Amino acid sequence: MQPGLMPAAFVGHGSPMNALETNRYTNAWRALGSAVPRPRAILVISAHWYINATAVTAMPRPRTIHDFYGFPQELFDVSYPAPGLPELAEEVSDVARPTWVGADVDQWGIDHGTWSVLVHAFPDASIPVVQLAINANEGLDYHFELGAKLAPLRERGVLIVGSGNVVHNLGGMNPVLPDEGFDWAQRFDEAAKARMTTEPAGVAELDGHRDFRSAVPTPDHFIPLLYIAGLAAAGTAGTDVLIDGYAYGSLSMTSYTVGLDALPEPDGADSAGSLATDAPLDEANI
Ligand code: ZN
Repeated sequence: MQPGLMPAAFVGHGSPMNALETNRYTNAWRALGSAVPRPRAILVISAHWYINATAVTAMPRPRTIHDFYGFPQELFDVSYPAPGLPELAEEVSDVARPTWVGADVDQWGIDHGTWSVLVHAFPDASIPVVQLAINANEGLDYHFELGAKLAPLRERGVLIVGSGNVVHNLGGMNPVLPDEGFDWAQRFDEAAKARMTTEPAGVAELDGHRDFRSAVPTPDHFIPLLYIAGLAAAGTAGTDVLIDGYAYGSLSMTSYTVGLDALPEPDGADSAGSLATDAPLDEANI
C-alpha cells in the first residue's frame, strides 16, 4: 500500500439481503474495511443512484434509503446513520472540472447499494459518506474518465467505492442456482477480471464483448466498475480480486481492490450468499 494514498474498491453487492447475512462476500467486505487506513470520508458510486445528471450528495445528515420492495421488514428497519460531508461535495466538483457536478441537498441519501456493503465494512457508521450519482445520459467513456479525475481524492483520505455487479441480469436469475453462474456470465466476468487486473483502461471497451448484452442488459450496475477502472488506470497501484463468485446464474459478485496489497483472511467464512426464499426474485430490485 502506497503511504498516504487511500485504496479504492469495487464491490459486487448482489442481493440487499447481504446487509443482514454473514457469508463469504460480507466477510470479504468486513476484511476490506479493516484493512484500509481509517478514511476521512467514503465516496460511493452506487448502481442505485442512476439519474439524469452528475451530482453528489451534499447534506450533513443523509437519510438511509430503502430503495427496494418485496423484502422482509427487517431489511426496511436497517439504518446507516453515517454523517455526510458537504465540503467533500465541493472537492468532487473541483476535481471533476470542467465536468459539472450538482450538489444534492435534499433528494437522495445513502441507498442500499451503499449501506448493504458499509454495514459490514464500517459497521459503526461513524465515517462520513457521500454518494456520487451515475449520469444515465452519458456513455461508458464518460464514467471511466470521471473516475480517473477523482484520483486526487485518494491522496486526501477519501475511500472511493464503486458498488454494483459486473454481471447483472435480473431477468435471467434462477433461484435454484444460488451460487452458480451461467457460461455467458462466467465468460464476461472473466473478461472483466482480465482487463481490471492487467489493463484497466480497457474496461470501457467491454461493450464489444460478445456477452455484453446478456451480462449488462442495463448499464447501472456495470458503470460503478468503470469509476474504479478509471482510478486504477490513473495510478500505478495494482488491482486485485477481493472475492469472486456468482449468484442465481446471472449475477457476478466479483469485487476488486486498487492499491491494497494485503488483506487479512476473512474470519468465520461460511456458506456463500443466499437470498431469502420469501423474496420474489423476478421483482426484487437488486
Ligand atoms: Zn443492486
